Amino acid sequence: MLQVSLHALHKSFSLGDGAPTQVVINGVDLKIEAGESVTFMGPSGSGKSTLLNLIAGLETATQGQILIGDKDITRMPQHEVESLRLNSIAYVFQFFHLLPTLTALENCSLIAIEQNRRAVMDILKEARETLSRLGLAHAADKRPAQLSGGMQARVALARALIARPKIILADEPTGNLDSKSGEAVLDLLFEEHRKQGFTLLLVTHDPIAAKRSDRIVRLQDGMLLK
Ligand code: ADP
Ligand code: MG
Repeated sequence: MLQVSLHALHKSFSLGDGAPTQVVINGVDLKIEAGESVTFMGPSGSGKSTLLNLIAGLETATQGQILIGDKDITRMPQHEVESLRLNSIAYVFQFFHLLPTLTALENCSLIAIEQNRRAVMDILKEARETLSRLGLAHAADKRPAQLSGGMQARVALARALIARPKIILADEPTGNLDSKSGEAVLDLLFEEHRKQGFTLLLVTHDPIAAKRSDRIVRLQDGMLLK
């Protein structure tokens, strides 16, 4: 399990020659303990997704530090950031990002296979079991286009869990789901958080979901509300 610590973090986007730069993350200081669950809330455009992307090393900070454990990823070579992400950080994207040509089983096994820590047969077995626990036993051999949004969300969550990460970042994982599928996804996420103890950073607009986490952090205009 890994601590996440942000120091004077800034992220600006330049919108092209001559255009003003847009400051999206504007001086964020935050410490999240190893194993803690934190929910980020805030209006659309407040920088929630950008913050998760920075922590995942998918965007580079303009200024400031991002410590994952004791390593500052803003000062790390790209290949080390990629290796840290592959082995320790799982991301449940808002629009799932499942690979369209792979089955559900293949989608949720791929990262764990790439990690090369366990035998492929064991990973596939665990993937089947996890899909079954998520009520998706019948969907294991189907491709994403054959699955509903709720099913795709569960596959994306299964993929994150099977990677056995130290940190899970989940960006509105229930945002596109009906309330029943949304609740099933959150139940599983928080149950696994209790069992596996990964650090959990969740973005949601759902106050009931937010209350299940240890702490709620509010973002507005790229700054934390005190
Ligand atoms: P949230 O997830 O809270 O809705 P985002 O982090 O997606 O907010 O976006 C915050 C702001 O940053 C928005 O105004 C958005 O347009 C801008 N933004 C995000 N990513 C980029 C990018 N790659 N290039 C330019 N602007 C961006
Ligand atoms: Mg967002």
